[in-house]
Amino acid sequence: MSNLDPRAMLSVCGGRGFVVAEPVRELLSPRRVKLGESTEVRRLLPNLGRRMIGAWAFVDHYGPDDIAGEPGMQVPPHPHMGLQTVSWLHAGEVLHRDSTGSLQTVRPGELGLMTSGRAISHSEESPASHARFLHGAQLWVALPEAHRTVEPHFQHHTDLPAVTAPGLTATVVLGELDGALSPGTTYSPLVGADLSLSAGTECALPLVPDFEYAVLAMSGEATVDGVPVQPGSMLYLGCGRTELPLRAASDAGLMLLGGEPFAEEIVMWWNFIGRSNDEIKQARSDWMEGTRFGEVKGYDGPPLAAPELPPVPMKPRGRVR
Ligand code: MN
Repeated sequence: MSNLDPRAMLSVCGGRGFVVAEPVRELLSPRRVKLGESTEVRRLLPNLGRRMIGAWAFVDHYGPDDIAGEPGMQVPPHPHMGLQTVSWLHAGEVLHRDSTGSLQTVRPGELGLMTSGRAISHSEESPASHARFLHGAQLWVALPEAHRTVEPHFQHHTDLPAVTAPGLTATVVLGELDGALSPGTTYSPLVGADLSLSAGTECALPLVPDFEYAVLAMSGEATVDGVPVQPGSMLYLGCGRTELPLRAASDAGLMLLGGEPFAEEIVMWWNFIGRSNDEIKQARSDWMEGTRFGEVKGYDGPPLAAPELPPVPMKPRGRVR
């Protein structure tokens, strides 16, 4: 998915100064963003109050949308740099194409993991013949300095491990949870897990105190550490926890996101994560000139044009705003 926000505000993120070192309960509201003609998403990260959770730097929640007889998601070819994208669906399907030659339909319960490394481009679309409902999350993981120029590649995993308790199935989408490890490649210590709770469930999820965490609510009625979470909202939980109490009044779907606080400062603009204004500027001009990011074959339509850069040069600031 692309950041199609025409404002494409610069975000300077990261640094441990942003981390809450103890357990907190901070409810984050979404911002509604138009994604192309037909899709509206709820953006949870970056958020006004918080820019990252571990290496997770971008979280969009969309649907469930009734797209019967409609084109559904149509995101034309666009570039990425310095990050991984995670496509995770609760309903429907997304057809992924990228400049490394990938052509893959991603379905509910399957991990679509694209590592941009230094440069990649991709498109995402609802296939011509698609399910009635589309519901999912699109997430980005910032790559740390040592790995942010790796070769671009795409992974598709259909057999993900799960941690279970009565009434709870926690599918490990990326990283590790309670000893269960996703086959998706990671470049920093983190976790992304899909939590499926049945009505009446009361349980505690094991966490590691060195990670900071948040929970994205996707469906149903649930409370996280006693806080009711509405679908489309996200609860930031800070660090220092060994377990997380969960309750579900109805069947509910949540996503746990966490990781070691990301120590590096990053510059995030449009679909790029870099470390300096010059780097972002170069990436933008390379995309507009058709170099470096390769070509997406088979998408019916022109690629996305990059928005204008902000008038003021972007510079990474200190860890505390
Ligand atoms: Mn994208």
